[in-house]
Amino acid sequence: MTTYKLLLLPGDGIGPEVMAGVETVLTALAETGLATFEAETDLVGGSAIDAHGKPLSDATLAKADAADAILLGAVGGPKWNGVAYEIRPEAGLLRLRKDLGLFANLRPAICYPALADASALKRELVEGLDIMIVRELTGGVYFGEPKEITTLPDGSKRAVDTQVYTTAEIERIAHIAFDLAGKRSGRVASAEKHNVMKSGVLWKEVVTEVHARHYAGIALEHVLADNCAMQLVRRPKQFDVLVTDNLFGDVLSDVAAMLTGSLGMLPSASLGAVDARGTRKALYEPVHGSAPDIAGQDKANPIAMIGSLAMCLRYSFGLGEAADLVDRAITAALAGGARTADIAGDGAPVLGTRAMAELIASELRVRAA
Ligand code: NAD
Repeated sequence: MTTYKLLLLPGDGIGPEVMAGVETVLTALAETGLATFEAETDLVGGSAIDAHGKPLSDATLAKADAADAILLGAVGGPKWNGVAYEIRPEAGLLRLRKDLGLFANLRPAICYPALADASALKRELVEGLDIMIVRELTGGVYFGEPKEITTLPDGSKRAVDTQVYTTAEIERIAHIAFDLAGKRSGRVASAEKHNVMKSGVLWKEVVTEVHARHYAGIALEHVLADNCAMQLVRRPKQFDVLVTDNLFGDVLSDVAAMLTGSLGMLPSASLGAVDARGTRKALYEPVHGSAPDIAGQDKANPIAMIGSLAMCLRYSFGLGEAADLVDRAITAALAGGARTADIAGDGAPVLGTRAMAELIASELRVRAA
């Protein structure tokens, strides 16, 4: 049996608590005989600043490069608010994404039947919801140059961020979206602002060309990003795969997050290009941050982190059976009424982080037996 090499980067705040949940599930998975893992743990974000003076050391980056996949908890927190912009905790995450070429961010927004009432929308709008948001992650306005604040002659300031996309960057993210749609319901919606942005004009043109050349069997629609935000709240189930740029993807995926009930439920994958060996670099992490308000209190929901492990099994290792097992264990725990505080109704009994992870691991063992 193949042994998969995982690098675990728990990070800050609730990161270590939810990552402990992953380790609990990895132990249960190894017992099933479906896969074995060699997991090494290292520092990222604020904890790396404390230890090394920077949020990602070169040694950790080298380990990330050598791993079969990386699982990351979350970075940041008030303790590091005063550090220089260049070495802030988030810079560690951005460097990992950039240096490993992780250009495609996959964020599923799934509404579990047991949680339909926890959504900000009415049950009938979200029950059965299953959207995959594909966000471009290494280009666009977060990385474009110039990116600066300058002082004008009158002493006031001027800030510039630059939105840049090339044909190649748009093509590769479009391929990811169309390939995913081929394994799902065969529909892609592409969101940009071609009415007011040149990068939107090129985005629409390139996505249309990739579709026409390679994906006759997939249905493509274009939607303006602002209208897309509105449609996500009005009638979210009209979407299947939604592909968009870095900035719009950041916003639209957070809108989709609220449809599913809690940030604590949302996993994500960030994928690089396929290399000569047929493998790709990949990092899996929950959508949520380090939640300093509940850190260290055994209150965090570990499901987004454990769901990220399921995505890792599916997309990096091709272990569909093991991934299904983890997903079914999560569904079973929720269907049985298990709730962490973020998804519990008023007065409902609440499980802590550790107890929820242990329950999911035991549901997994039952299903694997
Ligand atoms: P956050 O996601 O950490 O928290 C937002 C709210 O959701 C909080 O009330 C929190 O308690 C709750 N929440 C988040 N995850 C939860 C979970 N698993 N279970 C239960 N409740 C959960 O966002 P924020 O408060 O804006 O940011 C806090 C810190 O995290 C900041 O330093 C920010 O920069 C950082 N951050 C990091 C990442 C990342 O590492 N990818 C992402 C977003 C924010």
